[in-house]
Amino acid sequence: MKQILLAEDSPMFGRLTKARIEAEFDLPVFWVKTLKEAVTLLDMPKSNFSMALLDFNLPDAPHGEVIDEVIKRGISTLVFTSNMSDEVREQVWEKKVADYILKDDPNSLEYIISAMKRLEQNSDSLILVVDDSSTYRNIIAELLYIHKYRVITARNGESALQIIDKHPEIQLVITDFNMPGMNGCLLCQHIRKQYKFDDLAIIGISSENDKSIGARFIKSGANDFIIKHSFIVEEFYCRIHQCLDNIHLIQQTKEAAIKDFLTGLYNRRYFFHAGAMLISSGKRDQIKLACAMIDIDFFKKVNDTHGHDVGDIVICKVADLIQARMRTTDIVARIGGEEFCVLAVNMGNKDAESIFQELRQTIADTIITFNNKEDSLQVSVSIGVCTTAEERLEDMVKKADELLYLAKNNGRNCIKCG
Ligand code: GH3
Ligand code: MG
Ligand code: MG
Repeated sequence: MKQILLAEDSPMFGRLTKARIEAEFDLPVFWVKTLKEAVTLLDMPKSNFSMALLDFNLPDAPHGEVIDEVIKRGISTLVFTSNMSDEVREQVWEKKVADYILKDDPNSLEYIISAMKRLEQNSDSLILVVDDSSTYRNIIAELLYIHKYRVITARNGESALQIIDKHPEIQLVITDFNMPGMNGCLLCQHIRKQYKFDDLAIIGISSENDKSIGARFIKSGANDFIIKHSFIVEEFYCRIHQCLDNIHLIQQTKEAAIKDFLTGLYNRRYFFHAGAMLISSGKRDQIKLACAMIDIDFFKKVNDTHGHDVGDIVICKVADLIQARMRTTDIVARIGGEEFCVLAVNMGNKDAESIFQELRQTIADTIITFNNKEDSLQVSVSIGVCTTAEERLEDMVKKADELLYLAKNNGRNCIKCG
């Protein structure tokens, strides 16, 4: 299990910080008050620190010596200090820390937590660094590794484009301007033909004296621009964060528009939108599709007996069970209160009958707990499955709904296929 190291000699700040980190992260926090204790802990065979939060000034290490000990072990480090003169600030950045925090700032704890969360999440982001100079590629990559980003490098525009094709999950491209072959601005223009600002951010970097390069980069589709020779690490990180925050915000907004807030399944609107496309490609490629309508039996009674909150827990549990049984290519949606709809790909008549029969049984067998696991209940579902290829999605849904109605009339906790 990963651990967090906290080195702080002030009892009050140490206690507050430790409690706050433990409340936010599900990881053990080891708190030491001196450099000596820190080294002992770091050298323990089972130590597995993924992040460290260090006071610049400890009783036996007044000049940030603890930072060196931690960084040389490859641990991402945040530093806090009450004195941030220009001299200390420079010393701190030279040591290759991820960030620093001023202790006296009343928001310092909030900042620490958000900086730590960012470090935790950064490994989800893949960044492509394009530069013909290997020295510079390495400098940038190292700065990004300090923040736990995943990095790929390319030595020219052409291979950058190939890499982006292979890794559509890349969220940010940092590119030099002056490269043999395609220059940075041309690379931006090529990338923007396929990837809009929603999917991918670009930062241009140049050492050119030409003052127009920044504008040229931005006009070519870059989000931002950095000048190589006036490079300040702190500013570099701020710009990277801003670009990635933007992308994440857009992604979250897009997700929220197509997903159901309670269960995380797709919503009704997305189901009919994506489902219609699946039906037309299914027809073209002769793929068999099955559409199932799933409704929880006597759900109103769950709400009436246990309350709406428990009703929500039941809806989420049933949603999880449905999602777990289906494949990632299937569309699973919550289309009404306790009603779900599945459009399953490559599912013939017989398969559909056995898969949904199994799903029905799993749901009926599942014990759903609530009230800190002190209480529990069980529910069943009725399912209508349309396996005939209808012209439109609406027709498949209508037929599945009619079959569901038959299943309900047949005593519930059963399925009807047709
Ligand atoms: P049947 O077996 O015929 O399906 O009976 P039922 O009680 O499950 O069906 P009915 O349609 O009469 O009741 C559904 C209930 O679901 C009514 C509504 O208050 C409740 N409901 C709808 N949306 C939500 C929700 O988001 N959360 C909770 N807890 N309840 C919801
Ligand atoms: Mg119902
Ligand atoms: Mg219903």
